[in-house]
Amino acid sequence: MKYIDEFRDGAIARQLGERIHAEAHPDRVYRFMEFCGGHTHALSRYGVTELLPPQVQMIHGPGCPVCVLPIGRIDLAIRLALERGAIVCTYGDTMRVPASDGLSLIKAKARGGDIRMVYSAADALKTAQAHPDREVVFFAIGFETTTPPTALVVQQAERLGVKNFSVLCCHVLTPAAVTHILAAPDAEQHGKVELDGFIGPAHVSIVIGSDPYVPFAEGWHKPVVIAGFEPLDVMQAILMLVRQVNEGRAEVENEFTRAVTPKGNVAAQKVMDEVFEVRDSFEWRGLGVVPHSALKLRERYAAFDAERRFDLHYQPVPDHKACECGAILRGVKRPTDCKLFGNVCTPDNPVGSCMVSSEGACAAHYSYGRFR
Ligand code: SF4
Repeated sequence: MKYIDEFRDGAIARQLGERIHAEAHPDRVYRFMEFCGGHTHALSRYGVTELLPPQVQMIHGPGCPVCVLPIGRIDLAIRLALERGAIVCTYGDTMRVPASDGLSLIKAKARGGDIRMVYSAADALKTAQAHPDREVVFFAIGFETTTPPTALVVQQAERLGVKNFSVLCCHVLTPAAVTHILAAPDAEQHGKVELDGFIGPAHVSIVIGSDPYVPFAEGWHKPVVIAGFEPLDVMQAILMLVRQVNEGRAEVENEFTRAVTPKGNVAAQKVMDEVFEVRDSFEWRGLGVVPHSALKLRERYAAFDAERRFDLHYQPVPDHKACECGAILRGVKRPTDCKLFGNVCTPDNPVGSCMVSSEGACAAHYSYGRFR
């Protein structure tokens, strides 16, 4: 299949691995963060890390939309279903993320909450049209990739005069999270990992383009290479990062030229900007409260904002005591550092969010046995 098989060629992967071995200096360490869970999944699934020399270390980032969702936000969605009688629609992975009191959306459904898995924001709107006598809330999560469809659906709901539809908006912003990781204070005190560069996300960058990463290269002197999700994409990106580090360069390079442009999808950005504005702050699981890192509906679309419609107030809730998701999402720890990994916590019985989605670092390690 075009653009798939050609980026999974084992012989080329071995050649790329040999180049990385040849060019990575043995007397230094290269620490690269793969921001996106899609890359974490690719690294684990295709055994890419096995082809890297020990001095090239890949560190998970917070780019898994389910993993960064704090418990308090899931609690809001559960309360809408159980206490306010709303139909709550959301994406499949979100259903299994542990919330407070041993609940998750799927367990709340078993307790009688009308919680439905949907494949798209448009499906949630259809649900609202099919049940005009019920409140229907779309629990919207994700990075810039899933934000434009939510924005379009809000505009469509307004156009169609659908009055029983609203959005619990938990869309988050990639550049703000990268800034937060780079700006984290001192490593010793706060458990920050020193990074030599980033693999930039694929799908997010299709929407926002490569330009938003320029400040990380110019201001923080961190190389960024945007990469596709196939194994050869990731290996090529690692080689490009090694070369930048060796040459003392810090630039934004684009390995994923088949889909990403400097300016991104301007039409998608326009619709996002029409419907959403940036929140002052938002709590991320693992990163804590990050300023200007998430979106809310603009005043113009207040009628479709579930937080205003149901007068919801977010309350932070701590994670399970033994769960290391926070440290893993900051790149400070690895899944195998968690005492619960693979025994108490498994994909069938996730204790923390990183074990839920296939893009989560713990799920990827568990499924594919990645130990580096
Ligand atoms: Fe959390 Fe489970 Fe991962 Fe441990 S293994 S960090 S409990 S998700």
